[in-house]
Amino acid sequence: MQKTIANVLKQDSFSKENIVQLLKSTGEEQEVLFSEALKVKLKHVGNCVYLRALIELSNICQKDCLYCGIRAGNKNVSRYDISDEEILHAAKFAYNRHYGSIALQAGERVDKQFTVRIENLLKRITKLSNNELGITISFGEQTKDTYQRWFDAGAHRYLLRIESSNKGLYQQIHPNNSNHSYDARLNCLQNLQDIGYQTGTGIMIGLPFQTYDDLANDLLLLKDFDVDMVGMGPFIEHRETPMYKYKKQLKSLHERFTLSLKMIAILRILMKDINIAAATALQAIDPFGREKAIKVGANVIMPNITPTQNRASYQLYQNKPCIDESASESANKIEEKITTQGSEIAYGKRGDSKHYFRRMND
Ligand code: SAH
Repeated sequence: MQKTIANVLKQDSFSKENIVQLLKSTGEEQEVLFSEALKVKLKHVGNCVYLRALIELSNICQKDCLYCGIRAGNKNVSRYDISDEEILHAAKFAYNRHYGSIALQAGERVDKQFTVRIENLLKRITKLSNNELGITISFGEQTKDTYQRWFDAGAHRYLLRIESSNKGLYQQIHPNNSNHSYDARLNCLQNLQDIGYQTGTGIMIGLPFQTYDDLANDLLLLKDFDVDMVGMGPFIEHRETPMYKYKKQLKSLHERFTLSLKMIAILRILMKDINIAAATALQAIDPFGREKAIKVGANVIMPNITPTQNRASYQLYQNKPCIDESASESANKIEEKITTQGSEIAYGKRGDSKHYFRRMND
C-alpha cells in the first residue's frame, strides 16, 4: 500500500516515486504538502521576501527556442535595445528604493560588442551602488571567459534554466542544431558554478510531452547539481511560436499553475536553504500567482522595472502581466500584495543564497 503524504514527508530523502506521489496529491493531501513547505521555509530562510528589480534590457535574440515569443524567427516582434543611460537610471532607481538586488536579463547574444558592453555596464552599476546592490544576470549560454569577465565586473549570481532535465524533451522543444544543445547548456551551468557564481537554474512546468516522471527528475537534477537558486514556472503557449500547435494537448492553465506550486513546495522541502523565485509566469495565470508561491516556499520576487515602452516587446509568453505599468507602479503594487498576505519585504538586503555560503564552506 502507498504511504500517506504525511508519512512521505517525514522521510529524510525522497525517491522519484515519492516525488511523483507528492506531485499528484490533491485536496487535503496537497494542503499537507503546502503547509510542510511553508514550515520548512520559515525555519530555514525565514519570512522575508527578497526583491530583484528586473530590467529586460533587450529582446534581440539569436536563438530560436520553439516555445519563446522573442525567438529570432518571430518576425512580428519589434526589437529593442535599451540605452546604457536608461539601464543605469533603472539600476539607480532600484538602489534608491532599497531593493537590495537587480536582475538583468536579455535575449541571447554572444558577439563581442554585446559581451563587452555588459561588462562595462556591470562595472558602472557596481560603482553607482557603492558595491551594495546584488546583481543577478541572465544572458544565456556564453563562453567560460565571458562568464568570468562578467563575474569580475561585479555580477555574482547567474540564472540559466535547463528548461527540462529530460534530454529528449529538451530536444523536442528546441531546434535540432548546435546552437541549441542540452549538453552545452549543462556545461555552462558547470562553468558558472566553477567560477563561483551563485548558480541558478530551473525548468518549465506543463510542457507538451512532459510527464510526472520528468518533473520528478527535474527536481532531483536540481538537488544533484546542488544549485543555489531556482526559478521555475508554468509553460504558457505563445501564438507566434511553433509550439503553439500543441495547445490542445496541454494541461489546463489552472492545472499548470497548481502543478507549479507543488513543484515549488517539494523543492523547498528538498533544498531547504536555497533561494526560490516566484516566477512572473505564475501571475500571467492568477493575479495573485506570485504571492501564492510565496506561501508554499518561494522567497524571491522580481518586480519588473523595465521602461514601460519596452515591456510589451519582451513577451516570452502571452498574457504577460504588468506590461503597461511604470516601474514605480509595478513596484508599489507588488510591495502591497506581498505585505498584505503576511510576508515581510527585506529592503536594503541583497538576500544572497544561504545555500551558496554553506556550499562554499563545505
Ligand atoms: N536569454 C536568457 C533569458 C531567457 S528568457 C536566458 O537564456 O536565460 C527566461 C526564461 O523564460 C527561459 O529560460 C524560459 O524558461 C522562460 N520562457 C520562455 N518562453 C516561455 C513560455 N512560453 N512560457 C513560460 N516560460 C517561458
